[in-house]
Amino acid sequence: MSARILVVDDIPANVRVLEAKLLAEYFDVLTAESGEQALSLAQNENPDLILLDVMMPGLDGFETCRQLKNDARTRHIPVIMVTALDAREERLRGLEVGADDFLTKPVDDVTLFARVRSLVRLKGVMDELRNRDHGHQVGRDIAAGVDWAAHAVIIASSAKRGERYASALPAFVTYEVESDAGAAFAAVEDGADFALVDLSSPDFDGLRVCARIRASAKVRELPLIAAVNSDDVAMAVRALELGVNDFVHRPIDSEELTVRVKTQLRRKHFADQLRESIDERLELAVTDALTGLSNRAFIGARLKHFIDSANSGGAPVSVMLIDIDHFKRVNDTHGHEVGDGVLQAFSRRIQRSLRALDHAGRWGGEEFVVVMPGAGLAEAETAAQRLREAISGREVVLDDLVLPITASFGVAQVNPGEDMASLLRRADMALYEAKSEGRNRVEAAASAAA
Ligand code: GH3
Ligand code: MG
Ligand code: MG
Repeated sequence: MSARILVVDDIPANVRVLEAKLLAEYFDVLTAESGEQALSLAQNENPDLILLDVMMPGLDGFETCRQLKNDARTRHIPVIMVTALDAREERLRGLEVGADDFLTKPVDDVTLFARVRSLVRLKGVMDELRNRDHGHQVGRDIAAGVDWAAHAVIIASSAKRGERYASALPAFVTYEVESDAGAAFAAVEDGADFALVDLSSPDFDGLRVCARIRASAKVRELPLIAAVNSDDVAMAVRALELGVNDFVHRPIDSEELTVRVKTQLRRKHFADQLRESIDERLELAVTDALTGLSNRAFIGARLKHFIDSANSGGAPVSVMLIDIDHFKRVNDTHGHEVGDGVLQAFSRRIQRSLRALDHAGRWGGEEFVVVMPGAGLAEAETAAQRLREAISGREVVLDDLVLPITASFGVAQVNPGEDMASLLRRADMALYEAKSEGRNRVEAAASAAA
């Protein structure tokens, strides 16, 4: 699907000119003739980019942009403001209300399309994050919480030149200057909030560093701002195509650099928040909240994976079912909270006694499961005995309570062609046997061959 661009201008002829250019480049185009109409289209149609005229009756471009950026539903949509006036104050004002760029009419097509493609690509990344977050984080006011304090790596042909760039940075930014490509990359990997790259010296290939950053799994998302000579349109376009997020012209206007840095930090903050929220939700989805072990769904999926692999000629897999003995008594005697404490202490002991390859999970209540990839029945039995001793050998201490705790174990190794339900049934029968034989015991299910 091609990207959808919303063109906003109160003069129909201007709309038509931009629309024709965009259609010729295979973009889909939506149009609006006022700020009000633009806001409602942005909310309902989620365009991939907005080209916004500055001078309009009613809501002008500045106010429209401010409202777009203050609304969680539209904040992520890139905005390019387009104006007939090339005044520095206007440009700064546009960037300050959150525009991603500010272009002057008549718009140079090459620059425009490089810009549009670069911003649309970025929007794609944000959309992907937003989808994975299922609207969880979107409702929160993220922009308000941006901490501007940031660290920059300045990548320039010489330390002296780098220091000149640094002097244009806002005071809230700390920086280091690197003039060697390898050292610059290492500094970026070490932790930076953005990089400022010099693309204006003929003897320094800053683009190569940019390309290397974009190709690295670890720092690929780092905001990159390039400094280019103002007459070097070709360099600006190449930089955008290589994934540079924004550029400033030399000599650098410190105020303009400041607002552009803020735009990049705002977007980075938004993306970081989304990633954190996604990680948190992924963790919640796989972890048992009380014990921190894997939950039933997750450990079940792991087990199934290893059974499938064993059944297609891979290593064997064994499973250990564990049930705490007379656990109801703990609850009945000391209360549910103490019971919870015992479950937590018990889980830590399981976790500590496992081999690195084993996966432990809470199966439910006071029942646990350990998946042992690569382990045959004898090995699983030995591991279970070791764990049983680790548990019965030392009381669980909770504040001033000292509780002797034991558990019973059933182990089973997957038979050729056996499915997960059958394997677990056999492990459960072995566990039942351990209980009826007196508890604090390990029983192994007979293999198919026996
Ligand atoms: P057995 O030796 O036969 O396994 O006896 P048991 O008392 O351990 O087994 P039973 O299945 O009768 O009781 C299990 C108890 O575990 C009952 C239930 O209230 C308690 N339980 C289950 N989940 C939790 C939990 O999350 N927290 C606490 N505190 N108790 C729980
Ligand atoms: Mg029990
Ligand atoms: Mg039970």
